[in-house]
Amino acid sequence: MLDADVLVLGLGPAGASAAAEAARRGCRVIALDRKREAGLPVQCAEFVPATIDASVAGVVRQRIDAMATFVENDAPDLKPGFPGYMLDRAAFDASVVEAARQAGARTFFSSVVNRISRDGTVTLADGRSLRAPVIIGADGPRSRAGKAIGSVNTELVETRQISVALKRPHAATDIFLSAGIPGGYGWLFPKGDRANLGAGVTPRYKSHLKAIIERLHAGLLDRVGREILALTGGAIPVGGMLKLFGLLEDTLVLLAGDAAGLANPVTGAGIAAAVHSGRLAGEAAARKSPHSYEEELHDLYGAALERALHRRRELLDGVPGKTALRRGWIAYPEYWQ
Ligand SMILES: Cc1cc2nc3c(=O)[nH]c(=O)nc-3n(C[C@H](O)[C@H](O)[C@H](O)COP(=O)(O)OP(=O)(O)OC[C@H]3O[C@@H](n4cnc5c(N)ncnc54)[C@H](O)[C@@H]3O)c2cc1C
Repeated sequence: MLDADVLVLGLGPAGASAAAEAARRGCRVIALDRKREAGLPVQCAEFVPATIDASVAGVVRQRIDAMATFVENDAPDLKPGFPGYMLDRAAFDASVVEAARQAGARTFFSSVVNRISRDGTVTLADGRSLRAPVIIGADGPRSRAGKAIGSVNTELVETRQISVALKRPHAATDIFLSAGIPGGYGWLFPKGDRANLGAGVTPRYKSHLKAIIERLHAGLLDRVGREILALTGGAIPVGGMLKLFGLLEDTLVLLAGDAAGLANPVTGAGIAAAVHSGRLAGEAAARKSPHSYEEELHDLYGAALERALHRRRELLDGVPGKTALRRGWIAYPEYWQ
């Protein structure tokens, strides 16, 4: 297990995409994840914009046409032209891992990274040690690889999500903006005969999440079932793009996906950026070209992340009224001004 050119930490969309790309380019790749199997448990609302590439073919569960934004108790603003897909996220993650395997990457689950030393040695919980000339840190919002090179997500949103039955078909993502959901928003995303109903808030309000979801759920009982079919949650990085690479002695460490702070600070969306940055990280690992990796990610995501970060900080400055809530959300022209 010790012989690799590239060691990928994390087998979510970023890590699996990175492993596949590096392997396709002829690298010997070892990729590992602490999960027992790919994609489970699901910690995601499962929406991706239609601009995502063909990697989602086969795991789409429903098409989305529009976005309906509810500001406080106002009637919803329906915005057509927000096309996307609701995925089976577990199946998606499994498919990207399978693609990495097909490309020749060696993938290992139930492998927990405990420590990354200053010389680039990665120690697993079972005591094994690994070294490689390049490490790709795709190990999510609380990345150990990021920590090792001093590139840490300090701003997070905490989330809670339930799955409920959907009484009638729905083809929009519903967004709930309220001063009562501080630093985040609520969502109802339809997925066939079910829906993901969730909310995210700044960490200091994490203890309010259960009540926020109960309130949202109670207000939606004409459209969704009472029974909670599944419960999940997790952290989303919302502080914007981090430093994307560093050195641990002569080991190059590249960060991708949530580990690199690429989730959108306003929407929390990070799947598409994880896949794309993963691929680019795999390429950069093969070519040992961290600077062009950094340049490309800044070109691709820099401006959008900066705008979102700015809007998010405006919202956090005091208790937002309806005008501020609209200005802080992507469906409104004010957001883009
Ligand atoms: C509740 C919720 C809802 C969301 N909804 C959406 C949505 O609708 N659309 C969207 O685009 N984005 C959504 N996101 C964000 C999206 O899930 C992430 O941006 C995306 O998963 C990032 O992919 P990644 O590969 O970078 O990280 P992850 O998917 O987090 O993968 C990181 C992997 O690293 C592994 N790992 C971490 N630490 C270790 C360790 N020490 N040892 C070994 N392995 C480790 C983890 O097990 C994990 O598999 C949501 C997030 C949450 C929490």
